[in-house]
Amino acid sequence: MSNDDKQARDWVPAMWRGWAGRCPACGARSLFTGYLKMAPACTACGADLEAYRADDAPAYFVIFIVGHIVVPLVLLVEKLYEPALWVHAALFLPLTIGLCLWLLPRVKGAVIGVLWALRVRSRQPG
Ligand SMILES: [Zn+2]
Repeated sequence: MSNDDKQARDWVPAMWRGWAGRCPACGARSLFTGYLKMAPACTACGADLEAYRADDAPAYFVIFIVGHIVVPLVLLVEKLYEPALWVHAALFLPLTIGLCLWLLPRVKGAVIGVLWALRVRSRQPG
């Protein structure tokens, strides 16, 4: 284990770098190679990104966030306007799907950033 491995890592900037699709270690735009496909390592600093696995956590967080945005809006619109069911569907299905698709890579990057900062590896170095 090198000295670099013992240094404390601040999880807040690492989380925001991950949110932006950037390497949590150096900030280079190298976290993803596709929509949700992780790069095995950072092309700029060589950080081993493959060792950090978010698994189902991003999906759980996205469901939690989107549910807390969409459900109050549905209730508010129903209370204020009492629209037909198709109006609810026309408004809230695209909103729900769009929010989920927009949030998923950002939340996954943020989770990877926090895992990197806290050194929660699914695979040990070496
Ligand atoms: Zn990097």
